[in-house]
Order: sequence, then C-alpha cells, then structure tokens
Amino acid sequence: MTSTVCLTFDFDAMSVWFGYAHTTPAMLSRGEYGATVGVPRILELLKRYNIRATFFIPGHTVESFPHQVDSILAAGHEVGHHSYAHVDPSEQTPEEERRDMERALQVLRKIGVEPQGFRSPSADFSQVTLSLLEEYKFRYDSSLMADDFSPYHPRIGDQVSRHEPLIPGRVADIWELPFCFEFDDWAHFQFNFNPYRNGTSAPSKVFEIWTKDFDWMHHNHPNGVLTAAMHPQVIGRGHRIEMLEQFIQHVQSRRDTQFSTQGDVVARLG
Ligand SMILES: [Zn+2]
Repeated sequence: MTSTVCLTFDFDAMSVWFGYAHTTPAMLSRGEYGATVGVPRILELLKRYNIRATFFIPGHTVESFPHQVDSILAAGHEVGHHSYAHVDPSEQTPEEERRDMERALQVLRKIGVEPQGFRSPSADFSQVTLSLLEEYKFRYDSSLMADDFSPYHPRIGDQVSRHEPLIPGRVADIWELPFCFEFDDWAHFQFNFNPYRNGTSAPSKVFEIWTKDFDWMHHNHPNGVLTAAMHPQVIGRGHRIEMLEQFIQHVQSRRDTQFSTQGDVVARLG
C-alpha cells in the first residue's frame, strides 16, 4: 500500500490574465513574476527533495518564457497541455476549441513534448472537451472532480438538466486524476479586485487542510492518489513556498508514501 502525491503546477504566466474582462499591465506583471521568480524557486525546491512534478503549460507561456520552460524540461519534469491562450473551453465554439488545442500541441511538439496529460484552463470543460482529448490520444485529464483519491474514467455525453434525471453517457477511454479547489493554491491565496477574491489565507490554514486531507487518505484509502494544483505566481511567494516545503516534509514523514508525476501514475494504471 503506497499513498501517492502528485505536485502539479499550472505555469500560466501572463495568459491567465487574458481571461479577465480588462487586462492591465499590473496583472501581466503578476504573471511575469510566476515565470521569473516563482519557477526558479519551485525548481530549486523540487531538486532539493528529488521530486519530479507535472507542469501544465499553455502554448502562450512556452513561447513567451522559453528559458523557464527549458529549465523545467532539463530538470526532468513532465509537461502537460494547458491550452494555447488559457481561454475557458466552455466559452469557445467547438471549432475554436479544436484550433486552440492544435495550436498548443504544435507549440509543445516544437520543444519535443508529446503531452500525455491535459488540464483545462479554468478547470472546466465544454460539451466536446473530453471527446477532443480522446481524439488527440491524451492518456489522462486532471480537471474534473467526481472522485478525490481514486483515478477514474469520466463519461462522455451525459444528459442531465434541472428537469430530467441523469442519463449516463459512455465511459471515456482516458483516465481522470481528479482535481479539487481545496488543493488549488489560487483559490486560497490569489487576491483580486474585480472579480473580488480575498486571497489572503494564512499558509497555516492551507497547511492544515492539505495535511489533514493527505493523512485521511493515507489512513483510510489504500493506494490513494492526491493531486495538488499550484501556480508559480501564487505558490512562489516566500511564506507559501515554505508551506509547500513543510507539506513535502509531512508527506515524507509518513511510511509508504511517494511523489509522482501524473504521467507516471497513469503509466502504472495501464
Ligand atoms: Zn491555468
């Protein structure tokens, strides 16, 4: 019995800020901080603990911050698909979504990456996202939430509305490594004026949530897999990266635990 933790980093840089109605230079500078300050700190931490992680990187970031992306690859981390320009798929037409997916794939292939995994920008899907992922031969997604510690196969084509009960669709040929907002640093820590987000959680509060959830899995859910989703522009701050280091130490203090890329988890699942 081994408990697995996947540290994942959505290296959005500036692209995430285009999702807001009014993108400003200060917003973009927050994205730049993620690239120039956050990424080196994360890489240093992962190296010190000999941990391989998964970085979901939009094509826009790959082309804007090539040196940081090179250093992620050189350190042996996994790189996954995170769209080209970080547009919420539920706001795209199926054709726009396909074009965005292909553009991001081309950018990743140019740097030698054939991505196994996908995380949706905004952690949400359109009606066609899953079938696109199947068509483009992804092995896994990490955006949905129908489980917590068990990888599962999501369904395509569910029919459900407020007027009718669920009619389940078919099971997709892709693994889901479930995501949750409790393990998303953005939800806890990212302040914003409009739309307003408080974003000023103390790291001690988030550390309590993360360690309690991990310990519950470790004691109650054999062979559980826990995914933490972070952003270099958020977790990179000193007090937060210290919390991440303490979380790593907490996991390593328990017997029969491991850190893994999501791609390696899926390879073991077969
Ligand atoms: Zn993102």
